[in-house]
Amino acid sequence: MVVLDGKALSTTIKNEIRVEVDQIIARGERPPHLAAVLVGNNPASEAYVGNKVRSCEQVGFSSTLIRRPESTTEEELLHIVRDLNEDPDVDGFIVQLPLPQHINEEKVTLAIDPKKDVDGFHPLNFGRMAQGLPAYLPATPQGILLLLERNDIETSGQHVVIVGRSNIVGTPMGLLLSRKDKMGNATVTMTHSRTKDLASETRRADIIVAAIGIPHFITADMVKDGVVVIDVGINRIADASRKSGSRLVGDVDYDAVAPKSKAITPVPGGVGPMTVTALMLNTLKARRKEISY
Ligand code: NAD
Repeated sequence: MVVLDGKALSTTIKNEIRVEVDQIIARGERPPHLAAVLVGNNPASEAYVGNKVRSCEQVGFSSTLIRRPESTTEEELLHIVRDLNEDPDVDGFIVQLPLPQHINEEKVTLAIDPKKDVDGFHPLNFGRMAQGLPAYLPATPQGILLLLERNDIETSGQHVVIVGRSNIVGTPMGLLLSRKDKMGNATVTMTHSRTKDLASETRRADIIVAAIGIPHFITADMVKDGVVVIDVGINRIADASRKSGSRLVGDVDYDAVAPKSKAITPVPGGVGPMTVTALMLNTLKARRKEISY
C-alpha cells in the first residue's frame, strides 16, 4: 500500500513554482500577487486563509489579506470585489467561503472577473472546464489530478466512483476525470445522498473519491482489494487524548481501508495541501495571463 503524500508533493511543486517566480523577479518584473477576502471569524476559514497566505510566502508571491467583520454588507463586499477586479497589481483573488448568511454567495461569485477567478468557481470558468477549454480549474480537483499524475496512477479506462456532488469537488472531479485528457478517460460513476445501495457502487470502483463531509463514512466493506482511495473530507472529531481535545479525520475509515488499498491519501496531509498548491498554480497562470477569454 502506497500512502499518497500530498504534503511532500505540495512542497516539491511549490519549489518548482518558486524557481519560476525567481526568474520573473530576475527579469525585473513583479511577482504574482494573490489577494484573499475573509469575512467574519469562521475558525476553519481562518485556518484555510492562513495556509494560503503562508503558501504565497513560500513560493515568493505577494499576498494581500482583506479582513472584514461578520456584519459586512453584501454591497460592501461587492465593492471590494469590484476594486480587486480593477486593481492591475492583483493577478487573482479568492473570496473565502462560506460567507455570512446575509450575503448571497452566488452574487459575489458572479461579480468576480473570470480572468482573476483563481478558485475557478465562476460559471464561465466552470463552463469552459466542462467543455475542455483553457480555464482556471477548481483547486481541489486539480490538486487530486496532480496527486494521481505525479504518483503514476493511471486513470484511463479506470472505473472511478465519486461520492458527493458538490460544485467545488465532486461534480468538477467527475467532469475532469471523464474528459479526453491525459489524466482523464476514466469511466465515472457519480454518487450522492440519494444513491441506492452506495456500497455496491463503491465496491466496483478502481478509484474512489470521497467528498461527503461525514467522518469515516467509507468503511472497509465498501471497497474492493487494490482500490485507490482519495479522501477529500476534513472533519473535526472529539479526541480526549489530544491537548486540543479534537483531531482532523477524513471521510474514509483510514485504518480499516488502508490495508485493502493499493494507494490512499491520509488526512491530514493528503488532498488538503494539494488544494492550496493548486491555488498557487492558478495564481501563477493568472500572472502569466495564460488564459485568453
Ligand atoms: P458538500 O457538503 O457541499 O456536499 C457533500 C456531498 O455529499 C453532497 O453532494 C451529498 O449528496 C453527499 N452526501 C451526503 N450524505 C451522503 C450519503 N449518506 N451518501 C452519499 N453521499 C452523501 O461537500 P464538499 O464541499 O464537497 O465537502 C466535502 C468534504 O470535503 C467536507 O469534509 C469538506 O470539509 C471537505 N473539503 C476538503 C477540501 C480539501 O482541500 N481537502 C476541499 C473542499 C472540501
